[in-house]
Amino acid sequence: MEKEKQCFLKSSHGSQDQIPFKLVEVAQKKMPSFMKKNAAQQALQYKVDVEEVSKKFNVKDVYFEEEGTTGSTIINGNILEPGKVYVVCGTKVSAPILAGYPKCTGIAYDERMQLHQDPKSARNPERPERLREIWQFIRDAGYDDTCLKVDSREATDEEVLLVHTDESLSRVKGLSSLEPSSEGDIYHNNHTSEAALLSAGNLISLMEKVIDGTVDNGFAVIRPPGHHADTNGCSGFCFFNNVAIAARVAQKKHNLKKVVIVDWDVHHGNGTQEIVSKLNLDKDCSILFFSLHRTYSNFYPRTGFVNEISVKDSSGLIVNIPFEDGAYGDGDVLFAFRNIVMPIATEYGPDLVLVSAGFDAVCGDLLGGVNLSPQVYGHLTNMLRCLAGGKLILALEGGYNLRQTAKCVLECLNVLTGKSPSTLPNVINEKKNTHWAPSESHLKMFKEVFSTHASFWDSMKTMQSFFISCEEKMDVSSE
Ligand SMILES: [Zn+2]
Repeated sequence: MEKEKQCFLKSSHGSQDQIPFKLVEVAQKKMPSFMKKNAAQQALQYKVDVEEVSKKFNVKDVYFEEEGTTGSTIINGNILEPGKVYVVCGTKVSAPILAGYPKCTGIAYDERMQLHQDPKSARNPERPERLREIWQFIRDAGYDDTCLKVDSREATDEEVLLVHTDESLSRVKGLSSLEPSSEGDIYHNNHTSEAALLSAGNLISLMEKVIDGTVDNGFAVIRPPGHHADTNGCSGFCFFNNVAIAARVAQKKHNLKKVVIVDWDVHHGNGTQEIVSKLNLDKDCSILFFSLHRTYSNFYPRTGFVNEISVKDSSGLIVNIPFEDGAYGDGDVLFAFRNIVMPIATEYGPDLVLVSAGFDAVCGDLLGGVNLSPQVYGHLTNMLRCLAGGKLILALEGGYNLRQTAKCVLECLNVLTGKSPSTLPNVINEKKNTHWAPSESHLKMFKEVFSTHASFWDSMKTMQSFFISCEEKMDVSSE
């Protein structure tokens, strides 16, 4: 549904400088920033920020006059394409002005992904309300209006098979015709196959809009999650590895060379690690995978130690940052990002960054038992924006406290759309994990990461030397 209105900007010095332009309400509501929604008016009416138009088009003393007529698609003999906005001055018509504006953020979401649910328990933590709550927060913040909602689609067989086996694809596609069941961390009903294909497909759809430049970056509000699904199997609520599929589609269909995947879910991205390790054996594939997670003997999936650098060769493309004693705070993840993730990723020079954005390490999560603030996710997003020319896509993984997860998503969206990250809370738990310092209990692990990766990355060699020299100085001063 598209509505058009003819609008005019006029110079206060005379009607000769009348500058009409088309104000177009498009279904996807991708508007130039000077057309801000006027809260006092009805939902579909927009006001014009005259000051901004004046600055942008170097037109002084303009004022806005709305003719209130249905706009024509031809102005001064120039055919204007539907769905685009132009400035018309005399006989001159500008290029579509959307092209000159900062591009926006994309969002992928399809409510059909809520139909996948545990047939035995409505209280299963991986439940449809996760998406519902996030979408409500997004709507309340107005991002459903100011971001581009990309077309929803299912992943194709060809795309899924880039990382999964035939057997795995057939098994998931066949789930919808089976009797609904729930066993441990995998359940399915008649909508599971569709939801799994939509989850991967929506992420790909969003990623393709980032790759073709329609939007700068984006957030995929998707479920079921994907990072525990390996080449041949489903586990931990996951069916298809959404992020790994998207990374391979970027390489195979869009010729991107280097992709970084950052997994900040509280659980190790074991499925992604297995897939990426295998794919990287192929000479034409380079995917750098980081996982920051909680690890100890009983914490799912009990993998992700520093020495897991790849399956066969030692290319240094798998970087695990495991917090073994469980408790980690903002200071720990900020330290890991500033001193490991960002230096290595910068040295690598990716063409695209995908994030397995689980929010189950936030304080109050039902499964994570960790104490990150929602605000820290904005800071992590902000750092990642510096890579790959800003081509950054976040894809939802875990996060089981509905309200906290939705808050985290908003912190990320604020940054993706150009706002500064929120101020971090100063002290966030009784262990005094502050926003500015890592916990002493994790320094040994950080040192192990530096030494393990020093032979692959110059930045880690530097960090290792720096750490050793600091320790030597401390030893001398304590003697
Ligand atoms: Zn998780």
